[in-house]
Amino acid sequence: MTKGTHAKKTVFSGIQPTGVVHIGNYLGALRNWADMLDDYDCIFCVVDLHAMTTPYDPAAMPESVRETLMVNMAAGLDPERCTLFVQSHVRAHAELTWILGTCASYGELLRMTQFKDKTSRYPENVNCGLFTYPILMAADILLYKAEVVPVGEDQTQHLEFAREVCRSFNGRFGETFPEPQPKFGPVTRVMGLENKAKMSKSLGNHIPLLAEPEEIWSLLRTAATDPARVRRTDPGTPEICNIHTIHLGFSSEEDILWCEEGCRSAGIGCVDCKKRLAGNMSASLAPVRERYKQYAAEPDYVHDVMLHGAKQCEQRAERTMHEVRKKTGCTTKSNRYLSPKGIQLFRSENSKQTREN
Ligand code: ATP
Ligand code: MG
Repeated sequence: MTKGTHAKKTVFSGIQPTGVVHIGNYLGALRNWADMLDDYDCIFCVVDLHAMTTPYDPAAMPESVRETLMVNMAAGLDPERCTLFVQSHVRAHAELTWILGTCASYGELLRMTQFKDKTSRYPENVNCGLFTYPILMAADILLYKAEVVPVGEDQTQHLEFAREVCRSFNGRFGETFPEPQPKFGPVTRVMGLENKAKMSKSLGNHIPLLAEPEEIWSLLRTAATDPARVRRTDPGTPEICNIHTIHLGFSSEEDILWCEEGCRSAGIGCVDCKKRLAGNMSASLAPVRERYKQYAAEPDYVHDVMLHGAKQCEQRAERTMHEVRKKTGCTTKSNRYLSPKGIQLFRSENSKQTREN
């Protein structure tokens, strides 16, 4: 609900309501977003239109959206210091997606690794939305003229694509959008518990951000580590171990050093390392779990946050779309009829005519 912050650079980022928010989302995205609230004009979005590109239950979507929003708030996205909203509540995302699609390269889209990955995962659901997903992401960012986009490493290619679309639009229709820059935090990629693919909401290889200490331990206990450490006496390489990466996100410098030295010298075993991590994670995430419980007990407040965010973003988006329609030539006098006042005028002229007939 930020006010008077337009002199600050605008930040935009989003998260899909595709499942349980996990510690990869937290370390790669949410925590960095929360750190930016005071220095930027921050807009964060639950991107339900993106989530439609993979199989889902429409009846469960509203609850998934609410849940994702609440976890974001619990992770530190204080609604008093940023704008939080739901993508489908602002129709202009879809309109700008179409317009930017005319500036986007088909050949570039074919190269997107997430498309290849998700189509191989859902071969029965290779839909066009999955293919044009990066154009929608470009629209999300450009609609608010965002200059900074904090994301995890997996979104680097999509962001580069958004930058190209931005240049292409500006080149064709005149300077309109600033070129968005990616911003990465200290941990850019957390691998899944099996250490084969990145931790993902949709892969079931995650530690939930809201996991209680017992669940954290039971998931960490069996998580993959450096394969060189078969026996406790085998030394390892912390830099290639996912448990070490997670330590970087949750542990003190002292504990990280202890884990690194102990691993290299086989002075500690993987279980020792994981136990220390489980304790640090449980403690560091306790306030997130606590805030979540508070927000979950205040459904009306969460609803208000959503509505307020939608209203604010709709106004901002409409300002951009006005400029975009003008520059692309998608505007005539009749566009007046699109404004609420215009619709009234149109209706009254029509009914006048009807009466006269
Ligand atoms: P899905 O499996 O449905 O794609 P996801 O877990 O990849 O879900 P997204 O909603 O696609 O989550 O991404 C939200 C944000 O979290 C993005 O900025 C993304 O870069 C970041 N992110 C996702 N997974 C990881 C990860 N394993 N490590 C670091 N950052 C991540
Ligand atoms: Mg993803």
